[in-house]
Amino acid sequence: MPTSATRDTSLKPVQRVPMNDLKRSVAELKGLDEAIVGVLKSGWWLQGPETKSWEQALAAYVDAKHVVAVASGTDALALALRALSGPSGTVLTAANCGGYTTTAARQAGLAVRYCDVDEATHLMTAETVAAALTPDVTVVVVTHLYGRAAEIDEIFALCSARGIMVVEDCAQAIGARTTHGRSVGSVGHMGAFSFYPTKNLGAIGDAGAIVTASDDLASAVRRLAQYGWSSKYEIATVGGQNSRTDEVQAAVLRRKLPHLDSANERRRAIVARYVAAASPRISVLPAEGQGHVAHLAVAVADDRNAFTEHAQALGIDTGVHYPIPDHQQAAFRDQNADVRLPVTEALASSIVSLPLFPELTEDEIRRVERALSSF
Ligand SMILES: *Cc1c(COP(=O)(O)O)cnc(C)c1O
Repeated sequence: MPTSATRDTSLKPVQRVPMNDLKRSVAELKGLDEAIVGVLKSGWWLQGPETKSWEQALAAYVDAKHVVAVASGTDALALALRALSGPSGTVLTAANCGGYTTTAARQAGLAVRYCDVDEATHLMTAETVAAALTPDVTVVVVTHLYGRAAEIDEIFALCSARGIMVVEDCAQAIGARTTHGRSVGSVGHMGAFSFYPTKNLGAIGDAGAIVTASDDLASAVRRLAQYGWSSKYEIATVGGQNSRTDEVQAAVLRRKLPHLDSANERRRAIVARYVAAASPRISVLPAEGQGHVAHLAVAVADDRNAFTEHAQALGIDTGVHYPIPDHQQAAFRDQNADVRLPVTEALASSIVSLPLFPELTEDEIRRVERALSSF
């Protein structure tokens, strides 16, 4: 081993290709430092002008009448469910989406049931929802998983006919459009967004939002997100909490939003290269067109461990989204002992996620392509 003093810098170890590198996501953005310092110096750090402007900008972007900026995507889901369901009810959702909806539903005091997903898209469909609907279901949460818009129009029609409410989990899909050209989040009764730093539109901390066309639902979630207050210090609603987007996050998000569409385009282009490079032992889910914003590059491998080791040896990081379906999670499995979701369960052991973020370099993309083609 050469010491660092004698090492030829041209032979320095090759950098790993990371799953994400958040430093790069802000390196090129102009005006961000000034915006953050502006909030600091303004002395107005919560529920001020930045939050108002951000809510308006997001409403315009996702074609929503109302946007309520909250503290996280999980809060957005829990508040939406509480506003729609009241104190009891049952939520139906998919079990392969990382457990956020289950956590939020439990937080809102609701029971959870699961439907299976489509083998090709990994998404819940009108067919899988219809097969799992029971009379106790009051709300269906449709997750636009991996950035792909689900069959929301069809699921909405199915649920509407039965008086069931629909929430869209858009945490991974901001900017995606349905087959009818509508923005995700604008079809269901309410849409929930997350701006966790690694999402397609990420804050520099936690943030989330609820969108809705309904005046009543918008004011209900505003009250619930502000201690249940009807006006200052007057508590009119049970189940309130404190959930706000702070002014710094709102300032950052508003300045990043104009770059979202080009970043999503770049993500799709990277996924297209992975799809084309894959060997017969691994297939990458395509992410094409306006219906997909390529949040994650997910592949299905004939032997996931073998691929993960192969990629690691070539310096490529990988992840799994998600390794444990909700009904098999230790915290929830007692209530789900009889639940069987054959497609969800099979996919959980064969999926693997590849590095995907807009600032990946050409060299890094080539290295991932080589890992795929040489497997
Ligand atoms: C990230 C995510 C959430 C939760 O968002 P947080 O802001 O981390 O609470 C919910 N649903 C899905 C599908 C997500 O990917």
